[in-house]
Amino acid sequence: MLARDDWYDIARDVDWTLSYVDSKEAFPESWSGVGPVPAEAWNSWDEPYRVTFRDYVRVQREKETGALAVRDALKRANIYEKLDPAHTASSQLHMGTTCMVEQMAVTMQSRFCRFAPSPRWRSLGVFGMLDEIRHAQLDLAFSHDLLKHDERFDWCNKAFHTNEWGVLAVKNFFDDWMLNANCIEAAMATSLTVEHGFTNMQFVALAADAMEAGDVDFSNLLSSIQTDEARHAQLGFPTLEVLMKHDPKRAQYVFDVSFWRSFRLFQTLTGTSMDYYTPVAQRKMSFKEFMLEWVVHHHERTMKDYGLQKPWYWETFLKCLDHGHHAMHIGTWFWRPTLFWKPNAGVSKAERAWLNSKYPNWEDSWGTLWDEIIANVNSGNMAATYPETLPALCNITQLPLGSAWDRHNLQMYTSEYKGRLYNFDSDVSKWIFDTEPERYCGHTNVVDRFLMGQIQPMNLGGGLQWMGITPEVMGDDAYAYKWAAEYAAPARKVA
Ligand code: MN
Ligand code: MN
Repeated sequence: MLARDDWYDIARDVDWTLSYVDSKEAFPESWSGVGPVPAEAWNSWDEPYRVTFRDYVRVQREKETGALAVRDALKRANIYEKLDPAHTASSQLHMGTTCMVEQMAVTMQSRFCRFAPSPRWRSLGVFGMLDEIRHAQLDLAFSHDLLKHDERFDWCNKAFHTNEWGVLAVKNFFDDWMLNANCIEAAMATSLTVEHGFTNMQFVALAADAMEAGDVDFSNLLSSIQTDEARHAQLGFPTLEVLMKHDPKRAQYVFDVSFWRSFRLFQTLTGTSMDYYTPVAQRKMSFKEFMLEWVVHHHERTMKDYGLQKPWYWETFLKCLDHGHHAMHIGTWFWRPTLFWKPNAGVSKAERAWLNSKYPNWEDSWGTLWDEIIANVNSGNMAATYPETLPALCNITQLPLGSAWDRHNLQMYTSEYKGRLYNFDSDVSKWIFDTEPERYCGHTNVVDRFLMGQIQPMNLGGGLQWMGITPEVMGDDAYAYKWAAEYAAPARKVA
């Protein structure tokens, strides 16, 4: 009979003084990660959402009904068959690289439920965990509906059980900062940086592009998930607030590391989707414009309010923002047999004009490389449009060296540690490694494993087999190279 505000604080503050076990054993440092923060500091941990279980279930049930109603209506409308093949690549890329991350987030949230240093945070973790179960299940359900159209949607479930190189890059980051991190670090790296900073791009920007492209189903899925993310991402802020008072150096450090690593991943996944796969007439904003508005202006201002500085590598970040996803795009298209989706080259004359209008330096670094590819396609020299070698990969981001900046800046960064040489895509990744070498050493990236002879036979075929890429899903140009024809020299008139 009480009003919610009369009982809310009691319900979420359920905690007691342990008498049978030592609290250090019930909440081991390795899981909670509190470090030097005193126990009383967590009394001020407060979240703005004030959600109760009853409200949560009611709202989630409505969301779920809405999402599933759209799904059912669209199943009958055969909308999928009318979609632009370039856009389809975005949804396949999303499903394959994101579904299992949602499932990993269930584990992270359940760690909060058990080991977080504040009962309020533990209570909120329950809702976060239920959110993430819903997200993984929505991805699986929607992909299952689409399986009959395209086997690539099987990768929603399958991708993280393969060695596909892009999936390994995603897994490497989330294993580190979501599955293997303690509560404090996971809240800083995942809730605060990935969920608050970057998922807006994946879920808001991509949902808008999907809606424009006529993919109401995918847009609906993304929006339904984003409303949950916007809520549980908030648990990063009270954690940051406590940390800024008692352990500000660690807050800044985890933020700097996770910002760079998540930026490089989103650049690879969302940057290519927004600036190359979405049909040009339906693009809302460029990846860079969205990053500047949501991440640089909005997210950075919020961070500043809490006393965090811009990462020390801000200049490098801005250069990378202009170029990194173009580098990753031409690289992924060139190595297209190693993808489980069909990438759109995205450099027809109209697309190229759009790229030049958004990125004034695009032509100099990337247009000139695409011209080589176009000439080879148009002269029928297809062999030259495929790779013969492997790119050296960064031992932190797992992305190719030379993919962080323009083609005039291909400098390699290296460190030697315990007799082994490590390569990095940037001074930032090198700094990450050098700061905590024990955390990262010993890991072998795809190319390391190739050179060690773990991938046999040592050719493209052996590599594809090792990655689990089968002929049904192997990537090829989304439009079967038709876009290149408009660049062909006109046939000479016979006199
Ligand atoms: Mn999620
Ligand atoms: Mn989440």
